[in-house]
Amino acid sequence: MSFTSFHFHEKIAAAVTSCGYTSPTPIQYKAIPPVLEGRDLLGLAQTGTGKTAAFVLPILQRLMTGPRKKVRALIVAPTRELAEQTHEYIGKMAEQTGLSSAVVYGGVGKQGQIGKIRGGAEIVVACPGRLLDHLDAGAFNLSKLEMLVLDEADHMFDKGFLPAIRRILKYVPKQRQTLIFSATMPNEIRHLAENILQSPVTVQIDHDLPAPTISHVLFQVEQPGKTALLKRIIEQTEMVSALIFTRTKHKAKTLALQLEKFGYSVTSLQGNLSQQKRQQALDGFKSGKYKILVATDIAARGIDVSRISHVVNYDMPDTAETYTHRTGRTGRACRTGEAFTFAGREDSRMISLIERNLGKKMQRPTLTDIPQESKSSAGIPAEMEYERPRQVQKKRNPAPARARTAGAGGDRGRRRSVPFDFDVRNLSTVAGGRRKSVAE
Ligand code: AMP
Repeated sequence: MSFTSFHFHEKIAAAVTSCGYTSPTPIQYKAIPPVLEGRDLLGLAQTGTGKTAAFVLPILQRLMTGPRKKVRALIVAPTRELAEQTHEYIGKMAEQTGLSSAVVYGGVGKQGQIGKIRGGAEIVVACPGRLLDHLDAGAFNLSKLEMLVLDEADHMFDKGFLPAIRRILKYVPKQRQTLIFSATMPNEIRHLAENILQSPVTVQIDHDLPAPTISHVLFQVEQPGKTALLKRIIEQTEMVSALIFTRTKHKAKTLALQLEKFGYSVTSLQGNLSQQKRQQALDGFKSGKYKILVATDIAARGIDVSRISHVVNYDMPDTAETYTHRTGRTGRACRTGEAFTFAGREDSRMISLIERNLGKKMQRPTLTDIPQESKSSAGIPAEMEYERPRQVQKKRNPAPARARTAGAGGDRGRRRSVPFDFDVRNLSTVAGGRRKSVAE
C-alpha cells in the first residue's frame, strides 16, 4: 500500500515524500481512511507506531479547504514535550500548505501563545491545564472548532487530567469530529470514549505489543553494580544514542552527572527542570549534541527521537506497559533497536509480566568471566558499587570475556548479583527476524 491511495493534497503529499515515508504504517492505513471520511475514531496505538501522522495528515487535508485564520483543530496532549513535538511535526508536514499551528502549555509566558492563536493559527496543540487557563480567561475561543484529538488519553488519565478534559469539552462545539488515541484502554478511557465519540471506528494496533524490531536483553544485577555495568555496556556497544530510564528524578540527575564525569556526552530530563532546561536537554539529544539522555518515565513519555539505538532500563519499570512505552523509544518506524534491562532479585515478578507481554523470554547473556572491577578502571569506588563474588580471583586488566546468549529460558535458574566483565559485541541478538550483532 502506498500513500497515494489516500489522495492527499499535493502539498501534503510532498511533505510525506520529503519525510522519506514510502508506505503507511499499520495505524496509518487503518485510521487515515475513516478519519478522512469524517468518522470519529478510537485508535489503540502506542507511540512509535506512526500515530501522529495518522491524525495530523487528515487534519491538514480537511483544513486545506474552508476558512483560514480560525482555530479549526485542537490536539490535546498530556505533556509539554509531546505537545511541542506534535507542533513541530505539524510545522514540518504543513510547511507548504500555509496552515499553521500554535502550541499551548504551562511554564512559559501566556502572551506569546495568545498572540500566535489570535494571529491566525488553524491548529492548536495544547496541554489541558494551560489551555483551560486561556479558555476561562476568554483569551480566545474554540467556537469554530471542527476536529478534536485527545492524544495519549491513558496518560492523560494517569496524570489526573480527565476532569480538565471534560471542562475543555464544554468550550468546543458539539458538532465536531473527535479522535482519541491511547496505548491502553483503562475503564475510564473506555467510558470517556463512549460518552464523547459518535459511532466511532475502533482501530487497534498490536495492543501493547512492542515493536518486533527490538531485541530485549536482561541483566541480573543489584543496585550497587548498576553504574559500572552501564559504563561497561556504553563502552562496548555501538550506541548511536541511548535513552536511560531511572525510577526517580534524583537518580536521573545524579546518574547523568556521574556519566558526565566519565566523559560521556549526556544530559538528563526530569520533572524538576525548568521548561527552558527541559527543552534544551531535549533539543540537545535530538540534534545529537548529547548521545545519552537519562530520564524518568514522565519526562520521557512521547519523546520522538527517531535514531535512539538503545534503551536502558537502569531501574525496572513499574508495569509491563511502562516497559513497552520505554522500549518503544527504540526500534521505531522499522529501525532495529536494543533494550537492556537491569533487574535485581526483587524484580522477578515484573520480569515474568514483561515476558508474558512480549510473548517471549528476554535474552540473558551467559557470562563466563567474572573479573573484579577496580576503582581506577571504573572510576567508582569498588566498595560502593559492588558486591564482590567471593569465589573469584582478582584480575587486573582482564581481557574481555566472551558472552553467550541464552535462548528462551536457557539461562533460567542462574542468579548473579554482580556486574560481569563481558564483551557486549559478542552478544548476538535477534532483530527483525535475523540475527544481528550489537556492533553491526
Ligand atoms: P509516532 O508514533 O507518531 O511518534 O511516530 C514515530 C516515528 O515514525 C516518527 O519519527 C515518524 O516521523 C515516523 N513515521 C511516521 N510514519 C511513518 C511512515 N509511514 N514511514 C516511516 N516513518 C514514519
